[in-house]
Amino acid sequence: ASQAEEKDLVIIGGGVAGYVAAIKAGQEGLKVTCIEKRGMLGGTCLNVGCIPSKSLLNNSHLYHQILHDTKNRGIEVGDVKLNLQAMMKAKDTSVTGLTKGIEFLFKKNGVEYIKGTGAFASEHEVKVALNDGGETSVIGKNILIATGSESTPFPGLEFDEKRVVTSTGALSLEKVPEKMIVIGGGIIGLEMGSVWSRLGAKVTVVEFLDQIGGPGMDNEIAKQTLKLLKKQGMEFKLGTKVVSGDNSGETVKLEVDSAKGGKSETLDADVVLVAIGRRPYTAGLGLENVGLEVDERGRVVIDSEYRTKASHIRCIGDCTFGPMLAHKAEEEAVAAVEYIKKGYGHVNYGVIPSVMYTHPEVAWVGQSEQDLKKDNIPYKIGTFPFSANSRAKTNLDTEGMVKMIADPETDRLLGCHIIGPNAGEMIAEATLALEYGASTEDIARTCHAHPTLAEAFKEAAMATYSKAIHY
Ligand code: FAD
Ligand code: NAD
Repeated sequence: ASQAEEKDLVIIGGGVAGYVAAIKAGQEGLKVTCIEKRGMLGGTCLNVGCIPSKSLLNNSHLYHQILHDTKNRGIEVGDVKLNLQAMMKAKDTSVTGLTKGIEFLFKKNGVEYIKGTGAFASEHEVKVALNDGGETSVIGKNILIATGSESTPFPGLEFDEKRVVTSTGALSLEKVPEKMIVIGGGIIGLEMGSVWSRLGAKVTVVEFLDQIGGPGMDNEIAKQTLKLLKKQGMEFKLGTKVVSGDNSGETVKLEVDSAKGGKSETLDADVVLVAIGRRPYTAGLGLENVGLEVDERGRVVIDSEYRTKASHIRCIGDCTFGPMLAHKAEEEAVAAVEYIKKGYGHVNYGVIPSVMYTHPEVAWVGQSEQDLKKDNIPYKIGTFPFSANSRAKTNLDTEGMVKMIADPETDRLLGCHIIGPNAGEMIAEATLALEYGASTEDIARTCHAHPTLAEAFKEAAMATYSKAIHY
């Protein structure tokens, strides 16, 4: 269907940013086309990111718990065996179900879906090299770039996705490696490191900084996280940089140095996961054909309404500014379509939660203690440990705490940091409180059901403006 009718919106990329924008645009009555080259909708998140990693995290946790944490619960189990193939199949089933679901939502909302690779031919025309061969082109009154991101490579260590892997390879290993080295102690490194450590690999995380967790995690919470992950058997080399790697021998060898200089050593492993961050992906998009700019980190330059230099071309998600998170991409997708349709839209970048799905989970929203210190902003803190929470105690899962940070004068919540069971669900409550400008007293005076883990959240709020009852 070459040179078909002009669409109101043409979206390049069918990841979370692109597919949500497409559905929203369909709902708003816009004529919309979404171009995706993967052959499946949902992008990194559904195919090789959030969803498959959470499947493996959940099932590896269950396996690990059955091996190590049943006796004192009065459950005696017999022979426990890992069937990695079946675990991978469960992961694939979740992924396929969800990606097919999006195809259904496209149909339901009248979104045209083209399987192919899009590139700018001119300011309003996108050429598509179809996956099935051949070419087509679509014309858009508006165009949305939502091409996402890719793993940052480590110089000199080429990815083969078998022995030197990105997160994608780490989601599909055919057997449990004996020794695994993870370069980068950020979210990917700790989530995927947890999976393989629970399944039996000896995992060593090499992190350049003196702290794990990547950007944004509160220092105090990061320290607790490190302690708990070490207790689970993961090893850490902090303040250590990888100088070079060699994948030519029987094992992969890495030369590492103390980040401050001096001590160096050679490490070796069956599998090396490189998890040193992701970078925007705009290769082959033909940005130069329409004079669009990327910054020094490869991010497409946009204004506060997601507009590039050409005001009908917008960009959202991982390929532009801000945290590389699926829910951030999703918020931007709705806002961008609203800008196109109605002229206004909004995302509150100060209130975007982060969750690391290890066990216990780590979750946070708003400002960290170190952020506030750095900016010389006064604050007060309230904490509550899960060891004093009745539900955590009955669940025999008491590690971690809730930490709340508030303005000492107005008591307005500034940030919340949780390490503990179900932290990822509980952070939604803090996110809502922050969005609505709640004080910690507002939170503490809100009745919470008993016995729930969320009572730890309420009591941390109590401890911020007054005193907790149970601690
Ligand atoms: P993407 O999801 O990368 O989608 C972009 C799409 O565009 C891709 O499908 C690509 O094929 C397509 N594309 C690119 N160029 C073209 C072209 N020229 N033509 C056609 N199509 C094109 N975030 C969370 O919030 N929670 C999590 O738990 C989480 N877990 C993660 C785990 C892992 C292992 C990884 C790698 C990431 C994880 N993320 C998580 C991050 C999340 O996946 C991303 O933030 C999110 O996918 C960004 O969405 P996006 O649409 O901007 O980009
Ligand atoms: P990251 O930025 O979270 O962490 C990378 C870590 O690698 C940092 O701690 C950094 O100091 C370290 N590092 C960088 N270069 C290094 C080197 N040469 N040697 C040793 N350490 C080095 O990046 P990531 O973990 O790769 O994740 C990428 C993106 O994916 C993030 O933006 C993250 O938000 C997103 N993601 C989110 C989730 C989630 O929300 N649960 C899960 C996975 C990924």
